[in-house]
Amino acid sequence: MNFTKLKILSQNITESLWNSGGKRTIIAIGVLLALPVFGVLTAFGVASDTQLEKIVRHDVTQILALPALSNNDGDDERYYSSERIQRGDTVATLLQRLNVNDTAAFNFLRTEPAARNIFQLRPGRSVQAVTDADGELYSLRYLYSNEALLEVTRQSDAFVASQKNLSPAAQTVQGTGTIKSSLYGATDDAGIPDAIANQLARIFSTDIDFHIDLRRGDRFSVIYEMLYQDGEYLRPGRVLSAEFINNAKKFEAFLFTDAEGNEGYYSAAGQNRAKSFLRSPLAFSRISSGFGGRMHPIFRNWRAHTGVDFAAPKGTPVWATADGIIEYAGVKGGYGNVVEIRHSGGVTTLYGHLSAFASGVRKGSRVNQGQTVAYVGATGFATGPHLHYEFKLAGAHQDPMRVALPKADPLPAQYRAAFLGQAAIQGEQLMLIRDANFGRFE
Ligand SMILES: [Zn+2]
Repeated sequence: MNFTKLKILSQNITESLWNSGGKRTIIAIGVLLALPVFGVLTAFGVASDTQLEKIVRHDVTQILALPALSNNDGDDERYYSSERIQRGDTVATLLQRLNVNDTAAFNFLRTEPAARNIFQLRPGRSVQAVTDADGELYSLRYLYSNEALLEVTRQSDAFVASQKNLSPAAQTVQGTGTIKSSLYGATDDAGIPDAIANQLARIFSTDIDFHIDLRRGDRFSVIYEMLYQDGEYLRPGRVLSAEFINNAKKFEAFLFTDAEGNEGYYSAAGQNRAKSFLRSPLAFSRISSGFGGRMHPIFRNWRAHTGVDFAAPKGTPVWATADGIIEYAGVKGGYGNVVEIRHSGGVTTLYGHLSAFASGVRKGSRVNQGQTVAYVGATGFATGPHLHYEFKLAGAHQDPMRVALPKADPLPAQYRAAFLGQAAIQGEQLMLIRDANFGRFE
């Protein structure tokens, strides 16, 4: 990689991100160049060589687009507005908030089959409109799913609707933090999105129970993707690599995709991060965030009643602790609403006192480890909201906190060399991020 080229790219990208209103400085530059300069920042971006090409493409689009917006020839001024869809919105109320005052446009949306996705309003997603001063519509954009965009544009006197499949460009960003009160407190401080914090909790959940194991002073470093489409920020992508130092013990995870497209997280030595069963069936969420007794979730003695009770607020998502098939989802005596899952190796797990089931959870459906199957409640014989969790091996109850669990499959031998090479580079990056941010304080 040519140094000058790198430098130019980094300037352009920084500029375009500032222009697009990005809250943080995200700088694409080789990590070795960046560290001495940006050591004090808590989060900054790195573009690996493989991603530079994609980044260039979106960057050029952005730069060309900017002059066009401000130098509109003629007298027609253009107004840009963006609105987030709210619960209870209709297309009419949404257009009103977007300052679209255009009967022809509304009729077009109502009658044009290619535009009908606009009527699938999903709360939280946003719609953008460009109008003139009187509210006549020039164009409308609605990102109705993570993969597809509806675009309506005025072309002379008529409107045209088109669907676009998105192929977002991933920009690699890194962040680091220290736990002071909770995981989310630390990720908020570092400007790391919740979706990435949740992935971290999930990736490390086979070794760290984020409900009870977090300690003040725990640290993490993470390299993750942010997805952009035509220069516009879309959403967070995947965690690419991360390290988590919990109670002075270091855990690492590196994403590896094999030739068939299977993805998994592995330790630096190539051991599968995943275990056959999660330590805790409760999703780690903002609701249950925290440590030091405030939210200690276990108040049990499993021998008293063949299961473990986890105290948690009503509505906390309940995870399948391993891949399996739903054996039962319904009401069962004192268990109230209950889910039973059959796993390989003669293991079944049971989740009781649930307030509700996740959609699609019914007898015979397949679930993956970490998938939300239900929500904590207090149905059946329960004095307050909690999760009753049972683990049976060949029909006999086991203490799920103590039973010996087999490890998940290791990385297949044919991928080992490729993985180790990749993990060595990423491990070095993680170390540099950590040292740049923490080293000076020690
Ligand atoms: Zn119980």
